Amino acid sequence: MIRKIVLPVSVFLFVGFMLTMIQLKVEMPMLLLERFFKGGGWIEIVAVSFFGAFVVHKMQNVRESGRWRKIIWTIYSVWFFAQLFLGIFASDIFLLTGKLHLPIPAMMIAGPIFRWQKSIMTLLFLSTIMLTGPAWCSQLCYFGAIDNAFSKGKPVRGPLKNKMVYKHGVLLLVILGAILARVFNLSMTWAAVAGISFGLAGFVVMILFSRRQRRMVHCSAFCPIGTLVNYLRFVNPFRMVIDSSCDSCMACSAKCNYDALNITDIRNKKPGFTCTLCGDCISACKKNSLQYNFFSMNPANARNLYLFITVSVYMIFFAMGRI
Ligand code: SF4
Ligand code: SF4
Repeated sequence: MIRKIVLPVSVFLFVGFMLTMIQLKVEMPMLLLERFFKGGGWIEIVAVSFFGAFVVHKMQNVRESGRWRKIIWTIYSVWFFAQLFLGIFASDIFLLTGKLHLPIPAMMIAGPIFRWQKSIMTLLFLSTIMLTGPAWCSQLCYFGAIDNAFSKGKPVRGPLKNKMVYKHGVLLLVILGAILARVFNLSMTWAAVAGISFGLAGFVVMILFSRRQRRMVHCSAFCPIGTLVNYLRFVNPFRMVIDSSCDSCMACSAKCNYDALNITDIRNKKPGFTCTLCGDCISACKKNSLQYNFFSMNPANARNLYLFITVSVYMIFFAMGRI
């Protein structure tokens, strides 16, 4: 019983502490309610901290974890796009800097190259990779939640063909396109048109492929930020491992929406390159062969630590996530 409340209480205290620091130290009101009325930020801090404690309590149960991860991811995406909509049509109070940013993940690569300057979204993205590894692509990205919605259901069997070729090709095209746009001094209007077109192409991939294959084709084979995450995640020490008790029954494969548990991955006893540490596969394995790994920590504690970090980061994003 005590073990079960340690994690929710820790998330409550940590999220509350971090948001309190932001509320006290940052001059511009970062929390949404504070911008509407003085003291509103404190109400938001208590509400979000409770929400964090509740969610991590639910996610402690391996069988519930995937469902709650998807619920909070969807809530984040709806909330994020609602703020974009309100920022454009109601008031710029809903926007992060008062300026509009295109909410397309590829912009985090193309934008800084094209403008040749740092971007707050890119810095945020890199710090979440340090803290949570690939969780950006399993519960933080507003776009990935849409791909997740399109890919509902049992995935089509077999590996995604030519995935590595497509994902690296798109990443190179985006980088090259941004360099050329800078060299030829493309106007902001045309740069925005190119960014929006790329975002729409992503929707086409979701409609044509993710929906049919019932797996996240957009995130696993198209999005250039997803490809960067696949590489950069190794700066974070958390891993998903398959131990020697695995008898290759393939039950976990149907749970992986990221095409990371194909027969070769399972035979190699290692989830594939596109694994996002979402943890959905754990409950599918009757032998408990799939586990979180963090140095030499016991797997249950490693999973709890990962939940603590990812749910806390999610809650902080959720409290401040404007565009
Ligand atoms: S792959 Fe791209 S769209 Fe998908 S979750 Fe990651 S950053 Fe977002
Ligand atoms: S291998 Fe498991 S943890 Fe990795 S993406 Fe697939 S379901 Fe998620």
